[in-house]
Amino acid sequence: MKNQLLCITLCIVLSACQPQSETDPSESAQSAQSSQTVQKEVAYQQDPKPEDIKKQPEKSAGAQLMDNYAGFTLTANLSHLSDNQQKMVDYLIQAAKVMDDLFWLQSYGEKYDLLNSIDDPDLKRYAEINYGPWDRLAGDKPFIEGYGIKPPGARFYPPEMAKEEFNTQADDNLRSIYTLVRADEQGQLQAIPYHVAYEEAILQAAEWLKKAAELAEDPGFKNYLTLRAQALLNDEYQASDRAWLDMKNNAVDVVIGPIETYEDQLFGYKAAYEAFVLIKDKKGSEKLAKYAQFLPRLQAELPVADKYKQETPGTDSDLNAYDAVYYAGDANAGSKTIAINLPNDEQVQLEKGTRRLQLKNAMHAKFEKILLPIAHELVVPEQRKHVTFEAFFANTMFHEVAHGLGIKNTLTGQGTVRESLKEYAGAVEEGKADILGLYMVEKLHRLGELDGGELMDYYTTFMAGIFRSVRFGSSSAHGVANLLRFNYFAEHGAFNYHQESGHYSVNPEKMSAAIASLSEKILTLQGDGDYQAVADWFQQDGQMSPQLTQALDAINRAGIPVDIVFQQGRQYLN
Ligand code: ZN
Repeated sequence: MKNQLLCITLCIVLSACQPQSETDPSESAQSAQSSQTVQKEVAYQQDPKPEDIKKQPEKSAGAQLMDNYAGFTLTANLSHLSDNQQKMVDYLIQAAKVMDDLFWLQSYGEKYDLLNSIDDPDLKRYAEINYGPWDRLAGDKPFIEGYGIKPPGARFYPPEMAKEEFNTQADDNLRSIYTLVRADEQGQLQAIPYHVAYEEAILQAAEWLKKAAELAEDPGFKNYLTLRAQALLNDEYQASDRAWLDMKNNAVDVVIGPIETYEDQLFGYKAAYEAFVLIKDKKGSEKLAKYAQFLPRLQAELPVADKYKQETPGTDSDLNAYDAVYYAGDANAGSKTIAINLPNDEQVQLEKGTRRLQLKNAMHAKFEKILLPIAHELVVPEQRKHVTFEAFFANTMFHEVAHGLGIKNTLTGQGTVRESLKEYAGAVEEGKADILGLYMVEKLHRLGELDGGELMDYYTTFMAGIFRSVRFGSSSAHGVANLLRFNYFAEHGAFNYHQESGHYSVNPEKMSAAIASLSEKILTLQGDGDYQAVADWFQQDGQMSPQLTQALDAINRAGIPVDIVFQQGRQYLN
């Protein structure tokens, strides 16, 4: 995201509050005013309801937290791969595990210092899922005794450093997405490149990638792996990003390195290590390939003044379906991404576009275990039939495509949109992708280019998707973007609330206009690089309404999990 095209984090993420709770609206409002971070502005903190506690007297706090996650095993058929290609997958998983260790260091510190201090097995497992003692589904609230709030700058910056202190000293090195910031004895801030700070682990990860490269049969993939290994060693990623976009026929893929900047909630500058090991679904990919050709036309027809759509979306962009076999680091922390759009580097994007990866097995798990049960609780009965996997897949896919639309550089001389909107950039970019994704669905549906489904399927599934995402509360940029969008649709009559049943319905007549006007609003804010206007919008509309709070409580009382946790590794692949 950050221009994020990267949603690697998917976009459509979610996060949520804990089951069995109730919100105190005054608490949310207060935290919104007192905090400068995106995350805290929508913190949705709840306390258990007495009747819910009674229902499950035997459940420990750790067991209740673990109910937030539905287990899911990542599998894929590797039988079409040669022995060497299967061996290569093993090496890629090894490299991914190094990213996992590095993310621990960036987010919390020494992994085993924390894990070994926790006796309760559920709480220990919950700490593993969260890569630390703070609950990513509950606004980073600490769930292990003795821990205070999570430092917004994680371990990227000195914990005691003030924002002003950084801003006074900041230069390109300190702001770099690939450096740690540390204070020397005089209090002077120093930038330490990642490849220096984490030298030993980086050498190991590069070694695994080189071994994998030796086995790679697809020349494009071999080249990418070789360049990516080098990139890890010097933190210069552009050549490997280009090589990644150049390869087209590889059956196996890996996304690896410091990529997303969500973990840096202080400034949104610093990238966190992560990895995905992926097996391409060739048939599914062919179906998706046709949509990229519509990008230039859709860009030209965006519902906004011409000056905000003058950048040309890359025409080399492609869209593919995969099964994920391993998630590591940032990608595996808390809520799980089900689609990826990379690279994030704006220069490479403008030159070559991006690649969008739909992770079908992970997506299916979320649809069945989370989205359908939510629709059953919250959507009016007569519209529930419109919540379909096809629409969920399409909305998610077009979210990814939509990251390529709009504008990357401000028109007001403030550099890139990402730089000018700072800590809000991720949430705004996700909000843009969600709304423009739906705009694209509408357009293509009207052109007769979408396979099957009624427009109502896409609208209704989109609404159910927002409920899912808003549960994420605060610790993800996506959760924030969803809250803003939900409030916008409710204000404009696109969603109706039915007091007596507690259900919501879509009003298709008002939906279209709301999609267009919200698209325009976001594209304009990005093009203007208007940090203050965005901050004001978050303050005013980033709150949870009483109805929405009730809706989330209904979901939580129904015991619907918030996200997925993976069982993963070589042993689960056939
Ligand atoms: Zn996204």
